[in-house]
Amino acid sequence: MSCEKNAAVDCAPDNGGQFETVSIRKPTGVCQLCEDFSQRQSIKPVAVMCCEGSCLRGEIARQASNILCHSLLPERTVRVCLGGAFTKNTGQRALVRNAPLVVAMEGCFLKCATRMMQGVLEGLEPDVVIADSLIEFDRDLFSVDEMPEVEIMGHALDIAEQMAAKLGGPSRAAAPAGSGCACSG
Ligand code: SF4
Repeated sequence: MSCEKNAAVDCAPDNGGQFETVSIRKPTGVCQLCEDFSQRQSIKPVAVMCCEGSCLRGEIARQASNILCHSLLPERTVRVCLGGAFTKNTGQRALVRNAPLVVAMEGCFLKCATRMMQGVLEGLEPDVVIADSLIEFDRDLFSVDEMPEVEIMGHALDIAEQMAAKLGGPSRAAAPAGSGCACSG
């Protein structure tokens, strides 16, 4: 079953107010590298959080986020660590809390990044991008190993360029020679 078929059933705008309550163990230490990074990046106006799912759609969204933040709009966007932002109330979460614009790059209609961060930041309303809706591909594919890596990168580049154009930035990535893509993996 494709995600589109699932979406018709599971992706109603209003889920009837149903929530799952979780208890997240607080970390015992602090990654100072992460905190320093967050502090430096806090001057940027756009925070990009990505679902980073391990399936094909999540991988395309992940690669697109990297291209957008590290190649196309590095001066204006910061790539948020979703796990860090969700599980601890430190610098990464502050990037999402304080950014003038938050983009949620979602692999599919389930919008995991958006739902996760709305659970820890009340009132958060990111600009949601459903990555798989922006590209043409075989909708029955699911796993990351069902599509050649170069094709994944091509789709990611396509999405990143669409997002960059929407955000008012350059529409073409400067791909490293021979890579076929500007993403950083
Ligand atoms: S939004 Fe879709 S692709 Fe991303 S983590 Fe959730 S289920 Fe996976």
